[in-house]
Amino acid sequence: MGVIDEVKQRTDIVEVVSQYATLKKAGRTFRALCPFHSEKHPSFFVYPEQQSWHCFGACNTGGDVFSFIMKKEGIDFGEALRLLAQKAGVTISSRFEQDTRKDEKEKLYQVNEAAAQYFHNLLLNSPAGERARDYFASRGLSLKTITDFQLGFSPDSWEALEQYLMERGYTESELLTAGLVIEAEGGKTHDRFRNRLMFPIHDIKGRIVGFGARVLDDSLPKYLNSPQTPIFDKSSCLYGINLAAAAIRQQNLVVIVEGYMDVITAHQNGFSNLVASMGTSVTERQVGRLKKLSKNMAFALDADAAGEEAMLRGVGYENTLDAEVKVIILPGGKDPDDVIREDIKIWQNLLEEALPIVDYTFNMLTSELDLSTARDKSLAVDKLLPIIAEMKDTVRQAHYLQKLARLVKVSEHSLEAALGRIKPSQGRRNAKEAKPEVVARALHPLLSSPVEEYCLALLLQHPELKGRDEGLSPEYFENSENREIFTVWQQANDLLSLKDGLDSAIWEHLDSLITRSLPANQIEQKYASCVLRLREKLLRSLEAKRAEVLALEAESGGTAAELAKLEEQGIEVSVQLGEVFTQKNRGSQEQGR
Ligand SMILES: [Zn+2]
Repeated sequence: MGVIDEVKQRTDIVEVVSQYATLKKAGRTFRALCPFHSEKHPSFFVYPEQQSWHCFGACNTGGDVFSFIMKKEGIDFGEALRLLAQKAGVTISSRFEQDTRKDEKEKLYQVNEAAAQYFHNLLLNSPAGERARDYFASRGLSLKTITDFQLGFSPDSWEALEQYLMERGYTESELLTAGLVIEAEGGKTHDRFRNRLMFPIHDIKGRIVGFGARVLDDSLPKYLNSPQTPIFDKSSCLYGINLAAAAIRQQNLVVIVEGYMDVITAHQNGFSNLVASMGTSVTERQVGRLKKLSKNMAFALDADAAGEEAMLRGVGYENTLDAEVKVIILPGGKDPDDVIREDIKIWQNLLEEALPIVDYTFNMLTSELDLSTARDKSLAVDKLLPIIAEMKDTVRQAHYLQKLARLVKVSEHSLEAALGRIKPSQGRRNAKEAKPEVVARALHPLLSSPVEEYCLALLLQHPELKGRDEGLSPEYFENSENREIFTVWQQANDLLSLKDGLDSAIWEHLDSLITRSLPANQIEQKYASCVLRLREKLLRSLEAKRAEVLALEAESGGTAAELAKLEEQGIEVSVQLGEVFTQKNRGSQEQGR
């Protein structure tokens, strides 16, 4: 998680605003005399659910906690971020520290690349690499595949790699930091990987972050990985992601397997949308990364490994990350590698027959029960109802409730009643220290800005759009990073000066927007329709907020003048919404022609 997301998760807007204004609870909102303009009747509102604020008085504007602090303290985004981070106990490193760390990382990518080339060359050309060549040949790998994955061989030597790299100007300390060399007792150093098949692990940008290494015989450990380094963290890496990303986007599906060879063999056989988790279980960070490419995921699991715990974790991902998860069950102890080499049709069938993870969990948890007995019926309900309770999507929830009712032959009504007594909580355990309600709240603004990001990506990647006036303004962006990028972009001449003008905490987000793959044609229409969707989103949320306030005012006997003013604002919003619909219709008619 980036620092900005972390700050958001740990910050409560009600708490922050209450340091500047006296908030009183009113329905689902809090109201106060506006801290930005002087007034006698409170028209300033804070919305805890959306983590936003709005002034319906003279300001007639709103935003999130960042914009509140920026406006109130008269500071820029970076300063507001630091201030809130400090309150939330989140550490942010300075730009200087980040720059140094960036240089250090760059060096590590380089040394890994040099090592990979060394291993690759030995595999292809050295007499010592013959057994490794034989191994890959026995697995049916083509030269192209070996080159695509930069596979290699590490010689049976304690210092060959160290010597080679030091002759090329790398220092011992760099080799140690990269995990290529180990310091033994007494300070002597030696190569970590010896006499092994080498699998370089790339990030999505194709940089080598670490290595996996396999023995050629039966000695142990069979697999050895790079240790944790400044650029390698096993729990967030995905093997093959550099070669799979395009296919995952294109097919809108990612298949997650366990082993290096599974990915490689699948790739060679034309299945390019596979990645391997770097351990037996897929982590939340891995799922988070993949979700940026596709929300449809399929886990290929060995029948033995597809235990209850793994399933429940998968179901959890569907909820917390709003992803669609399926399960591919592999026949009796086989890897995808075996299946594909044996018969590609079987693999294709398995892909087509992949079950939604909840359906699979239903089957697994009930397969050993006798659902004609009362005891096993209640066992099934005990196990399955909590899973259903966790679902965020009400349609899915209803679907599975129905399924369970039919399965145990109990009325849906009584299950619904039981469901109401279960509190959803398990799936939200992800943020350890955060309170459950804080997490639920924070996930909303974090996940709900795909249109904003799409629109920004279009703008950033197509400078020619800058001249077009579609009436886009900063307040169209609810997410404060997006808003900040848009604001600075309006004044920037190019991407370089944009980056310069932004706080370094936003750079990662900016990079992801700049490198996002976009459709190639009809850019102008896509941009126009994007702006329209953002305008609609903004107006709708304004409308909802205003209606809520109007109801509160009417209830508490607000003065006629105030009610009239809110009504007036409401009419203005509906007029604008009407315009959005007219434009949308015109747009779709033109497209239909
Ligand atoms: Zn105000």
